[in-house]
Amino acid sequence: MRGTSTPGPRDAKGPLRRVVFDLHGVLVGHPLPLPGAPAGEVISRLRAEGVAVAFVTNSSSSSASDIIRMMADVGVEVRPGEAISAGGAMALYLREHHPGARLLLVGQPGLRRLIAEAADAPVRWVSNGDAADVVVVGRAPGLTVRELEEAARAGRRGALLLATSEDASFLVSGEQVPGPGKTLRQVEHAMGVSARIIGKPDPFILMRGLGLSPEQLRSTLVVGDSSIDVRLGVRAGAATVLFNAPAEQDGPTPDWRIERLEEVLELVGRTK
Ligand SMILES: [Mg+2]
Repeated sequence: MRGTSTPGPRDAKGPLRRVVFDLHGVLVGHPLPLPGAPAGEVISRLRAEGVAVAFVTNSSSSSASDIIRMMADVGVEVRPGEAISAGGAMALYLREHHPGARLLLVGQPGLRRLIAEAADAPVRWVSNGDAADVVVVGRAPGLTVRELEEAARAGRRGALLLATSEDASFLVSGEQVPGPGKTLRQVEHAMGVSARIIGKPDPFILMRGLGLSPEQLRSTLVVGDSSIDVRLGVRAGAATVLFNAPAEQDGPTPDWRIERLEEVLELVGRTK
C-alpha cells in the first residue's frame, strides 16, 4: 500500500459495493490539484469495477442539478439520483415529518426553493415567530437581529428547531468558508432549545436522501475529510475513510486514513 492507509477493523467484514463521497475537501475546494489520479478518473474506475458511487454534501442550498453541474466542472460525472445535499435532505424530512407545518426560515433562497420543490402542497412560510411551528436553519451569512428575535418568539411558543448542519466551515478554493454552525448556535441560544440536525452526520441523508437500506449501508464506504463524515459512516453502519485530514480530530476513529484518493480503489478491491 502507498500513502498512509492502514488496515482497519473493516477488513474482517464483507465486500464494499458502494462509495459515498463528501464533496468539499475531498473532490472540490482544493487550491491546487492534489497528488495522484484525478477524482474523475478514480470515480470512473470505481464505476467500471461495478462499484456504485454517490455524493453527499452538507451544503444547505444545492440541488442535485447544482451538484451535477459543479462536479462536471471538475471532471467528475455525477448521475441523477446519486447526489443529495443537507438542504435536499431537509426538504425530504419536512415533507415526510411536518407536511403543512408553518415554517420560519433562517437561511438562503436556495434552501427555500428546495423545500418548496419537494413539498406535496404549497409551503406555509411565515416571517413572524409567533406563527411558526418549525424554525429551519441553513447557512445564513447575513443573519439579522430581527431574524433572531423572531426565532426567539417561535421558541417561546414551543416551535421545533431543525438545521441542515452544524458545520463550522467548509473548504472552497483552499479557504475555509463559514458554515451554518455559528448561526445555529445563535438561534439555539435565542430559542433556548437544541436543533435536530438533518444533514450529516445524521444517517437520514443516506437512508432517505439516497434511499439506501441498512443492508446496503453495511457494504458502503463513506469517504470524507472531517470527523462529521466519519460520524455519519459510523452511525449508518458503513465503513469510513478519512481523506487528507489533520491527524488530531474529534470523534470516532475512521477505519482507514488515506492521502491519495486512488487508495479508495485499493481499499474496495481488498474487500472483494
Ligand atoms: Mg468536507
